[in-house]
Amino acid sequence: MTRSTPPIHSPARPCRVEDVPRWDIETGVAVIGFGAAGSCAAIEAREAGADVHVFEVAAAPGGSASLSGGEVYVGGSGGTRVQKANGFEDSTEDLYTYLMMAGGPGADAARVRLYAENAVAHFDWLEAQGVPFKGTYLPGKWIEPTTDDTLVWSGSEAAWPFSEKARPAPRGHTAQFKGWGGGKILMERLCARAQAVGAVVHCNSRALSLIVDEAHGIAGVVVRVEGELKYVRARKGVILCAGGFIVNRAMVARFAPAALACTDVVSGGNDDGSGIRMGMSVGGATLHMDQFFATIPFFPPASLVKGIFVNARGERFINEDAYHGRVGHYVLRQPEGKAWLLVDGGIFGRPLIQPDIEVAAVGETWAEVEQELGLPAGSLVHTVAQFNRNAAEGRDPLFHKAADWLRPLAEPPFAALSYCIGDLKAHAFTMGGLHTLPSGEVLDADGEPIAGLYAAGRSACGLPRWGEGYSSGMSLGDSTFFGRQAGLAAARN
Ligand SMILES: Cc1cc2nc3c(=O)[nH]c(=O)nc-3n(C[C@H](O)[C@H](O)[C@H](O)COP(=O)(O)OP(=O)(O)OC[C@H]3O[C@@H](n4cnc5c(N)ncnc54)[C@H](O)[C@@H]3O)c2cc1C
Repeated sequence: MTRSTPPIHSPARPCRVEDVPRWDIETGVAVIGFGAAGSCAAIEAREAGADVHVFEVAAAPGGSASLSGGEVYVGGSGGTRVQKANGFEDSTEDLYTYLMMAGGPGADAARVRLYAENAVAHFDWLEAQGVPFKGTYLPGKWIEPTTDDTLVWSGSEAAWPFSEKARPAPRGHTAQFKGWGGGKILMERLCARAQAVGAVVHCNSRALSLIVDEAHGIAGVVVRVEGELKYVRARKGVILCAGGFIVNRAMVARFAPAALACTDVVSGGNDDGSGIRMGMSVGGATLHMDQFFATIPFFPPASLVKGIFVNARGERFINEDAYHGRVGHYVLRQPEGKAWLLVDGGIFGRPLIQPDIEVAAVGETWAEVEQELGLPAGSLVHTVAQFNRNAAEGRDPLFHKAADWLRPLAEPPFAALSYCIGDLKAHAFTMGGLHTLPSGEVLDADGEPIAGLYAAGRSACGLPRWGEGYSSGMSLGDSTFFGRQAGLAAARN
């Protein structure tokens, strides 16, 4: 049997400094990836006085962030200028409490505290870099604004259990852009700014492996620049900002197998885990690698939020007014992967993002729908009758759906939209990554920093680390803010 020769350089195998044939590029800070985290890391490192070279595998800058909605999750400190102008007060404690709940059992209090106290200043910083925010508020329930408005409710703030613990406020701030895709303008401005302050950017440049100096830590990185191997010396440090691992299906199968049910990847295409693997190759620890954002965008139209989800036992399992990503996680873990959204003639509409959704059953009575779905006799009928009784009184004692979304499902015809695995279209990106301090320093298995190595964005495990708690805007908020911290820390190293 012949064995294939392993590549000389791979993210899983660091290069020893003794094996470096020459230094092709020398810099203070090397940033890997020119997306949300990388652009902000480059700006801060450069402004703190370091020489900065950025290596980006794609032909153009921007990463997944340039395809994104451009929505950034910020608030606290009384409110951003946009929140205040639109009549919303937002305290730091409420933002902190919400983010701690959103972080789930592994929430990082120090990281959340730093973010909650500085999110308004971060928003001002984004504006100062040239990112435009119109300043207007768009009421309603959206996945992303399709207008060029700024402020939206982007998570579960107004939904149970979050609304009981933290006073709700809208915190999704979207870069001004008409239609979906404000990330394009966000990233155009951040990447232009990084270059304007003097970061040297190499596109078509794939970072292959870290260079390790046993005595001093990370000495640099091997990069294939325009097809040629370059040995890059980074005197102050290497910052891994290479995104997550959702497109690397082998890694997903290994670390986050539940995400395999999500057929659509939320990615620009280069979230192959190379940043995380490079960190792991030099002893970097990882955190929450099983966690992922998963959405089944069952609305708009917002009327569908007034429907109820049931499982194969005919039972409800979630307050449907929670963030669509939270609902998505509950849907994905139902027994046998089966769930349906029940709607009546008064609220029926086809979900904008999946208009060809399978209508699994239709009937003039809920008993007919129950029978067509093959559910245990009486189960669904009982669930709907109980829901309708309470909804008529504006109550949901089981799941605490807010009164605005409660309405008896009593207007025939009745239907069940299929959110069974196989029928549903779920979209995902990964949240697990390298274990870092809020400064971006990568930690080893003993919790000790690895000299000269930093990570931010989805290469690190940041603020978003619990699929059930995610809200739109948290990834870009985290990547841009903690990218900045990593840039500063590396420049000061
Ligand atoms: C359609 C869509 C909509 C979204 N909407 C939102 C939203 O509104 N709000 C929000 O918070 N999040 C949103 N997201 C998620 C968000 O864009 C990402 O989670 C975020 O961009 C992560 O930032 P990052 O810096 O870690 O990664 P990226 O922005 O993807 O940057 C990573 C960069 O590293 C490069 N790279 C990868 N490997 C290497 C390598 N080995 N060498 C060199 N370069 C490498 C990549 O090409 C990429 O440019 C959305 C994503 C998509 C795709």
